[in-house]
Formats: sequence, C-alpha cells, structure tokens
Amino acid sequence: MGLTPRVEIDLAKIKQNAKILKDLYGKKGIQMTAVVKGVAADIKIAETILESGITSLADSKISNLEKLKKANLKATMILLRTPAPSEIEKVVQYADISMNTEIGVIRALSNEAIRQNKKHKIIIMVEMGDLREGIMLKDAPDFIRETLACPGIEIVGIGTNFACFGGVVPTEQKMNEFSEFAKAMEQKFSLHLSYVSGGNSANYNWLMKTKNPGAVNHIRIGESIWLGRETATGKLIPQLHPDAFRFIAEVIESNIKPSVPFGSVEKNAFGESVSFENRGNVRRAIINAGRQDILVSGLTPMEPFELLGSSSDHMIIDSKHIHLQPGDEISFFLNYGALISAMTSPYVYKMYKNEKQRSRTYPCLTYMYRQEKSS
Ligand SMILES: *Cc1c(COP(=O)(O)O)cnc(C)c1O
Repeated sequence: MGLTPRVEIDLAKIKQNAKILKDLYGKKGIQMTAVVKGVAADIKIAETILESGITSLADSKISNLEKLKKANLKATMILLRTPAPSEIEKVVQYADISMNTEIGVIRALSNEAIRQNKKHKIIIMVEMGDLREGIMLKDAPDFIRETLACPGIEIVGIGTNFACFGGVVPTEQKMNEFSEFAKAMEQKFSLHLSYVSGGNSANYNWLMKTKNPGAVNHIRIGESIWLGRETATGKLIPQLHPDAFRFIAEVIESNIKPSVPFGSVEKNAFGESVSFENRGNVRRAIINAGRQDILVSGLTPMEPFELLGSSSDHMIIDSKHIHLQPGDEISFFLNYGALISAMTSPYVYKMYKNEKQRSRTYPCLTYMYRQEKSS
C-alpha cells in the first residue's frame, strides 16, 4: 500500500528488459542506446539502465540530458532532436552527441564548440520516408561537405527514423537502402561512422528477420524497454515484462447506480457529447485520478473492469460482479502516452521496487494476453 495515484516502477523488470534487448541487438552487431524521454529521464531508472551494461542514454530534451549529467551518470549522452537555435550553448555543454538536419544549426554548434574548447559530435539524420526529421538523400553529399568545413564539429554517424510521424515501416528493403547509403557516404568522404543508427522500437521485426543488418551498427530504444513491445505493429516481445510500470489509483466511492445519466443532458466538462448504453443498474466505482493526472485513454484496467469515462480528477468504472470499497486499489497497464503523462505528472507519486520488493506477477496478466489475442 502507499499513496495514490502512483506509478509503481519495477526496476528489476526494467533491467531484465534492457538486458534482453541489448543482447538481442548485440548478437547482430548492433549497439543499443536507451531512450529515456518516455520516463522523463528519471535518475533511478537511468542508473538501472546503466547497470544492465548499456553505456549511452538519449533524450529529445536538453534539459533532461543536463539533469542526467548533473547527477553524475557516466554515460554517453545523445540529444535525439535537432537542436533549437536558442539551446546551442546547452547542447554543446551537456550533449556528447546531437542529431542534426540544419546546416545553420551545425555552424552555430561549431562556433559554440570552439568557444567552449570542445569538438561537438553529431549524427546527421536522413529522410527514409517517415517525413519527420532528416535531409533528403540527394542533398546529403553537399550537406556533409559543408559540415566537414565546420572546425568545431565531428561527424560520428548517420541516422534515420521510422514509424514516428508517417508510420513508415523499416522493411528489409528500406534498411538495405539506408545501409548502402551510409556505406557510400563513408567511402566518399572517408568518414568513420561509429553510429549508423537505424531506428527505434519499430525496428524489432526487421532485426529478428534480417540475416544481414549491413552497415547498421546502432539503434535507439525506448518503448520496448519500458513496455515490452515493438511499435510497428504494437505486439508484445517474447520474454519481456509488459508490466514493469503499473498505474495505481484508489476507490473513493462505490455504489449501485443507473448506467445512464438522468435529467436533461448537454455537454460534459470537456465539451464532449456523451452517450451511454442502458444496462440497468451497475456497480459504479469512482477512482481518485483523472485527465489532469494521467492520459486516461492510455490506461487498461488489470482486472476485467470497464472504464466508463473520466473527468479532470475522477475515473468511473463498472466493477461488474465485484463489490469494491473505498480504499481498494485498482491497477492499470499503461501505453506509451499514459507512461509519459504519469512520469511527468506532479500529481502522480513515483514508487520504486527493487529486486527484493519485486512486484508479484498479476494473475490478470493472462487477461491482458487474452485481450491482445482477441483484438
Ligand atoms: C523517441 C525517439 C526514439 C525512441 O523511440 P521508441 O519508440 O521509444 O523506441 C528513437 N529515435 C528518435 C529520434 C526519437 O525521437
């Protein structure tokens, strides 16, 4: 028991997930960086990741890398998002490597690096079709030539990203194309690319199938570590824990009430028109967390309860045949959106479990697997 609402963080499960993934990718010659933006670059979690043998951490926010550096974590810090011009000074100070797509930004990084007596390392991101960050392949040679003329910059990698904006899948063909392109640039400009960085948690199926990852030697993984899923189709990865994080809130009212609102009905607190199926009287329980605390739409109850809806500070569930009482705790699985909101919410307590306090595996996990199969 503890205060609610809280997120319970099982560090032992996170460590196992990280290690299994690191070994899977390692077997194919691919080094793995842990992407910690999904857990708000939490220090205890980052330390756990480093205990698994992973040596680099990445985030899209420079403020998170600053926090990790100031906590004295010994890891290579990678900035995933191309730097905003206003954050150049901090990027050179706190990121060992940043990902880039704008020559003006690279020149500014170069000048700042010289001022700070450093060389700033960069990975150049190229566009393979997903249409978020990246320069077009045809523009890359000129771009690299101009970057090589920046005295404060060292090119350590070429990277690409999939399945983030456009939902484009890293197929064998796409990955080969990317690999061949990286090889060609390496030869043309005599580069030494320590990071041919092929993607994220959406690359899992490619990895399992491919016989030859080619020049790809690096991958950036977040969601698979935290939630045990690949993200191209959203399936669970065998042997990984899907419940390293659990959201727990508490019943504050439980009563038998009608399933349909009565009175004249207009919009709810969020301006939405809602309608409800009439199933007579049901056991309605009110839970002490709502949309102000967490992304409610990203929660799935671990027991076969039905989440009927939410307002800013309450969730309403139909507890079916179970009679809940105030003080009963309700556990939920989180999707990535819910995880982000739980970890960044000031209203959600964070509770850590280590090897000894390891959380019991819920019998209702079987319920989740069943749901997954039927969906
Ligand atoms: C967020 C992000 C990742 C990690 O994605 P996951 O799906 O959590 O593995 C990798 N690369 C970039 C550029 C990102 O922004």
